[in-house]
Amino acid sequence: MTAVFDVAIVGGSVMGSAAAYFLTADPGFHGRVLVLERDPSYHEASAARSWGGFRQQFSTPENIRMSAFGVGFFREAAGRLAVDGEAPDLGIRAPGYLFLASPEGLPILSQNMATQSRLGAAIELLDPPSLARRFPWLNVDGLAAGALGLKDEGWLDPAALIQAFRRKARAQGALYRQAEAVALERAGDRVAGVRLADGERIAAGLVVNAAGWRAGRLAATAGIALPVGPRKRMTYVFDCKQDLSAAPMTIDPTGVVFRPEGRQYIGLVSPPETEDPERHDLDEEYELFETTVWPTLAARVPAFETIKLTRAWAGLYDYNAFDHNAIIGRHPEVGNLIFCNGFSGHGVQQSPAAGRAVAELIQHGRFQTLDLARFGYERIADKRPIVEANIV
Ligand SMILES: Cc1cc2nc3c(=O)[nH]c(=O)nc-3n(C[C@H](O)[C@H](O)[C@H](O)COP(=O)(O)OP(=O)(O)OC[C@H]3O[C@@H](n4cnc5c(N)ncnc54)[C@H](O)[C@@H]3O)c2cc1C
Repeated sequence: MTAVFDVAIVGGSVMGSAAAYFLTADPGFHGRVLVLERDPSYHEASAARSWGGFRQQFSTPENIRMSAFGVGFFREAAGRLAVDGEAPDLGIRAPGYLFLASPEGLPILSQNMATQSRLGAAIELLDPPSLARRFPWLNVDGLAAGALGLKDEGWLDPAALIQAFRRKARAQGALYRQAEAVALERAGDRVAGVRLADGERIAAGLVVNAAGWRAGRLAATAGIALPVGPRKRMTYVFDCKQDLSAAPMTIDPTGVVFRPEGRQYIGLVSPPETEDPERHDLDEEYELFETTVWPTLAARVPAFETIKLTRAWAGLYDYNAFDHNAIIGRHPEVGNLIFCNGFSGHGVQQSPAAGRAVAELIQHGRFQTLDLARFGYERIADKRPIVEANIV
C-alpha cells in the first residue's frame, strides 16, 4: 500500500523536527507532513549526545547569522514552542565562549572578530593580563589573546530542544511515525517515494533528508553522492575541587575545549583530520583523555591537575567531509529532494535557521529571510568549499 503525503521528512531529531515545526507554523501551508523517525528515543542521534552550545564566533557570515537567529529563537522558545500552555524549558545558560589564541593564531582571531563585529556580535578581545584578571584560574602562558563573547553565547539542553520542536510540530499537525527509510526511490529527476524497512512505500511531493550522520547513506540509495557520514567524538566528564562553575566555554589554541556541566565539567577534542575515519560505534574510549585532553587542560587550568574523571560518552558528528559546513537546499537535478545535512559540530544552534530555511524553500521555492544559497549542494558538485576557520 502507498500512503501519500505532501512532504516526507526523513529524520525527526532536531533538524527534521525544526523543519516540521516551521513548515506547519506557516499559515499559508496546508499540506500533509510526515516525519519518519527510526528511533524516537534518539539514542544514537547527534543532537541528543551534543553539548548544545551556541556561539557567534564563526568566520563564515552565514554561520554567524544562522546562530544569531538561533539564539533569538531559543530565548523566545517558551512562547513559540509552548503547547496547551505548557512552555518548554531549554535550560539556557549564556556565559560566553572564550577562544584562546597563540601568537600564530592571533591574526585569524582578529580577522574573525572583525567579521563577527560587523554582523553585530559583541566580542571582546582580551590581552593576557586582562585574561588573567578576568579568569584568575587560567594560565595565560603562551597566549597572545582571548576572544570572549559578551552576549548570545552559551549552551542549552539539546534533548529538551528536540522534544520542544517535536511536540509543537505535532500539535500543529505534523504526523510522526516510527519507521526506518531504507531507500529513496528515484524516478528520473524526482524522488517518487520513500521505501520503509517493513516494505511499505510512502509517496511524497517533496522529501527532506534530515537523517543526521546517516544522510550520506540515505542519499546514496537514490544514486546521489552526499559527503556526510559519522565521526566519533568522546566527551569526558570530570569533577574538580575548585569551583569554576561560572567559566565560559573555553577553547584552548590546541582545540581542546571544556565547560562546566552542572556541578561537573566536560572536555573534548576532535582528532586531527588524518586520524578521524568514518566510525559509527558508541563504545567508550579513554585514550584521547589520557594523551591530549587532560594534559592540555591541566596545563591551561592548574586546578584541573587533580581532577577526577567520572564518566564519558561517545557521540557522532553529522560530518560534512567536504568542508564541515551545512548543506541546505534542493538537489540541482532531483528537484523534489531537499538536503538539511552536514552540520558537523554546530547543528543544534543552527536548527532554527535551518528548519526555517527548509520551510521557506518548500513553501515559497526560495529563501525568504536569510539567503543560504552558498550552502547549497551545488558547491559540492562544483568543488567550491566554504572554509569555516572556527571549527570546534
Ligand atoms: C559530542 C557532540 C557535541 C556537539 N556539540 C554541539 C554544540 O555544542 N553545538 C551545536 O550546535 N552542535 C553540536 N553538535 C552537533 C549537533 O549535535 C548536530 O549537528 C545536530 O544534532 C544534527 O542534527 P540532525 O537532526 O541533523 O541529526 P541527528 O540529531 O543525528 O538526528 C538524525 C535523526 O534521523 C534519524 N534517522 C536517520 N536515518 C534515518 C532513516 N533512514 N529513517 C528514519 N530515521 C532516520 C535518526 O534516528 C536521528 O534521530 C555536537 C555533536 C556531538 C556528537
